[in-house]
Amino acid sequence: MQTVLITGANRGLGLEFCRQYAAAGNQVIAACRNPVKAEQLAALAKQYPQIQIETLDVADFNQIDALATKLSHRKIDVLLNNAGVYGDQAGRGFGQLDYQTWARVLAVNVLAPLKLAEAFLPHVQRSDKRLIVALSSLMGSMTDNTSGGSILYRSSKAGLNAALKSLSIDLRPTAVGVLILHPGWVRTDMGGPNGLIDAEESVSGMRKVIDNFSLADTGSFVKYDGSALPW
Ligand code: NDP
Repeated sequence: MQTVLITGANRGLGLEFCRQYAAAGNQVIAACRNPVKAEQLAALAKQYPQIQIETLDVADFNQIDALATKLSHRKIDVLLNNAGVYGDQAGRGFGQLDYQTWARVLAVNVLAPLKLAEAFLPHVQRSDKRLIVALSSLMGSMTDNTSGGSILYRSSKAGLNAALKSLSIDLRPTAVGVLILHPGWVRTDMGGPNGLIDAEESVSGMRKVIDNFSLADTGSFVKYDGSALPW
């Protein structure tokens, strides 16, 4: 049995991670911005008492520090940075860039996972699994970018990849692993109705990749089906 902390746990892939980890008998710390409005998560926590819901806006670093202090007695096997925002809007590409939104996208998608890693490193180091995971995107890949656009989102996921690659190297001597995942194109609010797979398939694939992780894989960028992706 492991303890998994999941950000953005109230809907989409985060909610499905909670469902699958709890159903497999793990302890789940389900962090979301507004637990009062998280009806599906609350229903899941009723079904699985090992789901503990915590308030966390990942863009609010005081909240991150407060949660790390509140949980200071706990071990966390897998710190799962799932929360993310897209930000790009039709008609707001190059020439009309929305810099305020861009800064918010970078805060949520890049700064927050690093701040969470800093704040929760002691909890992760106390565990057996010792793993920090982030949901990135193939849209952060330079090699894959042949269609342009989505400047806010692409730059944030590319930045996340760069930061986590460094983190993986910096943490290797402490035997804490870092895994960068692409969930596939998934039918969620963010992925939209035309996504190629559903959340159940994406998350069960990513859980397999997480289960099979060993320190030799640290710093790798991997798709939900386990295949390696180009930077
Ligand atoms: P959704 O838009 O369905 O859900 C996003 C989640 O992130 C929500 O729970 C949302 O909470 C949360 N979130 C956003 N901002 C914050 C914040 N400041 N603090 C806390 N939580 C926040 O997205 P998905 O489930 O599809 O995506 C999950 C991850 O997977 C993201 O990182 C995304 O970039 C990545 N991804 C998704 C793909 C897809 O096809 N779906 C493809 C590639 C990557 P709230 O309800 O409060 O807004």
